[in-house]
Order: sequence, then structure tokens, then C-alpha cells
Amino acid sequence: MLNGQQVETVYRRLSEAMPGRTKDAKGPKGQPDAFRSCISCMLSAQSLDRKTARAARALFDLAQTPEAMLELDDRDIAAAIKPCGLYNMKTRNIRKFCEYLLAEHGGVVPDTREGLLSMPGIGRKCADIVMCFTFGADVIAVDTHVHRVCNRIGLTDARTADKTAHQLEERSPDWALRDGHFWLIQFGKRICTSRSPKCDRCPVNDICLWLKAQQKQDQTHE
Ligand code: SF4
Repeated sequence: MLNGQQVETVYRRLSEAMPGRTKDAKGPKGQPDAFRSCISCMLSAQSLDRKTARAARALFDLAQTPEAMLELDDRDIAAAIKPCGLYNMKTRNIRKFCEYLLAEHGGVVPDTREGLLSMPGIGRKCADIVMCFTFGADVIAVDTHVHRVCNRIGLTDARTADKTAHQLEERSPDWALRDGHFWLIQFGKRICTSRSPKCDRCPVNDICLWLKAQQKQDQTHE
């Protein structure tokens, strides 16, 4: 993993190259409230962003509150969210989430990580995304892009997104917590893409551990 000084350098360079939350970074769209933010996050599991957005739009056309959601037939929910896959499991989770939200929280989504984690269907990733995007907390939420990027550069060395989130929390400087998610996610979408990272124009290509390993591998094959 990178040392503390290198971690600082990575964040500083990303902050110069990528938009933060105060600029033009794009968060989950169409989620003005915590309820819809939670549901959208549940829909995003193992789904591409555009498919999640399509499913969320179709579902919120049918219902926008937990009460209205519970009035729907499971088949209607499943049909609406079909584009994002795993729709039967996600339908069950949505129903359990709405029932619990109404029974335990009077329909109001809790605004703490612990409270969110107590909700059915909400894991660390969803909790942090809702905390970051909806409640404006200084939290680096870890989705697939952030997970990939952090472990490539060497900010973390974790196999799962939850472990990455844990390590990031421990290793990130306080000044980077507010916008870190936004820098990392934009970086993962624009430069350090999944299949063909654009290493030649990457602002941290002199530090990235993944690139160093690739170069070493190339040298041994020459
Ligand atoms: S050098 Fe390449 S792999 Fe490393 S962070 Fe930059 S784009 Fe990603």
C-alpha cells in the first residue's frame, strides 16, 4: 500500500484534476429524498448505472413513498425494476425495507450510518452513499468504481468494497473526506476505467502500484 505522504499526494492531484461535490460532480440523479436514495441504492446492486436509473424511474413513477410502495403488488414492483436484474430478490428487499421503515422509524429514514445499517437491504455501501449524497456527510462512499480505483492506485489493498471503505476511513486525511468520493468516482469513470485505464494521461501514474506492477511484468517478459 502507499505510505501516508503518497496518499496525501494522490488526493491532492485528484482534487486538482477532478470535480468535487461543490463543482459539477454528478451524484445519483432524481433522488431528492432519503427514501428514494435508499431504494435506488438497493436497485444498483450488480447493475449498470443506466439500468439502475431506468428501473428507479419506472418504480418511482408507480410509488414515491413507503406507504405507496407497500400498496403495490410484488409483480408490479418486479416488472418495473426488471432492467436492473435480481428483481425478485430486490422486490422482497424493497418490501421489507418499507415495512421496517414504517414500523420502526415512522417512515423517516435515519440519518446516521448505524441507523441506516439497521435497515433491511441496506449495507455499508448504500449507507455511505445515502450519508454522502443525501445527508451531505463527510464520508467516502465506496461503490464499484471507487473500490477498483483505490485498490489499483494502492490507497487500499482490500478485496471487498466494505473492507476498502474501512481502510479508506482509516487512511484518508480529514481534508479529503468531504469530496474524496466525488474525485475518486469521476476519476474511475473518466481515466481509471475498468477495462482500459488511460494510464498515459493519469495524474498519479508515477505513484500507482498497479501500473508499477504492470511495467515490472512487461520488463520480465522482454
Ligand atoms: S496509472 Fe493507470 S491504473 Fe493507475 S490509477 Fe492511473 S489510470 Fe488507473
